[in-house]
Amino acid sequence: MKIYGLLVAALLMTLVGCAAMDTEAKGDRQDALYACDCGPQCKCNTVGTKPGKCACGAPLKGGHVIKTEGNEALMCTCGPDCQCKLDPNDPTKCGCGKVVKRVDLKGSGVYFCNCGGSCMCNTVSDKPGECKCGMQLKKVD
Ligand SMILES: [Zn+2]
Ligand SMILES: [Zn+2]
Ligand SMILES: [Zn+2]
Repeated sequence: MKIYGLLVAALLMTLVGCAAMDTEAKGDRQDALYACDCGPQCKCNTVGTKPGKCACGAPLKGGHVIKTEGNEALMCTCGPDCQCKLDPNDPTKCGCGKVVKRVDLKGSGVYFCNCGGSCMCNTVSDKPGECKCGMQLKKVD
């Protein structure tokens, strides 16, 4: 049963998202992003899809993408496990009340979806692939 469930999840994950797999495969979320946030004036712009350390020495802060605009990902920094969404009334804030952090994905090596130049697919990856919307993820060097 478990193996069957995993197979189905693997086949359908691009269509149905992660709701059904939350308990089994939390690590398969596609919106987790880690960025340096060494202070309000942080200019490091270190970003990746896995935890790590910035060149400045600070550990990368885990968050998740809530919108993509051009090459910029808007991320909430309340943690990669959080499900909060962009505040519909205030585009500078996340629904959890935190100020949205903008990270430039250009040159980061991160693949991302930006269908239509601005999208809420919130799919990021360290390798090429297809977004749940059907578009190929892209990388900007
Ligand atoms: Zn840094
Ligand atoms: Zn949030
Ligand atoms: Zn997409």
